[in-house]
Amino acid sequence: MAKRKRRGDPTVQQVLDPLRTHCEGCGGRLWVAYANTRTVVTLDGPVHLTSKIRRCQTPTCALYHRPYRPEEEGGLALPHGEFGLDVIAWIGTPRFGQSAQWWIATTRLSLAPTTGEPEEPPWVSQK
Ligand SMILES: [Zn+2]
Repeated sequence: MAKRKRRGDPTVQQVLDPLRTHCEGCGGRLWVAYANTRTVVTLDGPVHLTSKIRRCQTPTCALYHRPYRPEEEGGLALPHGEFGLDVIAWIGTPRFGQSAQWWIATTRLSLAPTTGEPEEPPWVSQK
C-alpha cells in the first residue's frame, strides 16, 4: 500500500558522538570526518539523528580512515531502519509475548472492527 500522507517533520534533534576519541591502533586523536543524518520514528515521535563519524588521520596506522560510529546509534535503530527499536519492540511484544493464535485473533479484530469476531482463515474452512 502506498504511503498517502507525509509524516510530520521531526521536532526533536539528537546529535550522537562516538565515545572513543583516540585511535586504538596508534593512540592518535580521532577527528570528526563527517556526519550522517537520518530521521527515525520512535514511540515519542520522529527524531532527527545526526551521527558524527570519527576517523584516524594517521596514514601509517593500520586503522587509517576506518570509521568509528557512535555506540549509541545501534541502540536507537537498526542500520538503515526507519523505525526505532522501541517501536519494533512495541510491535513484537504482543506478537511473541502471547501465543501466536492470540496475536492473530487480536490483529484480525483490529483490522476488521465491524465484524466483532475474528474470521477463520480461508484454509480452515476448506478442510
Ligand atoms: Zn590510528
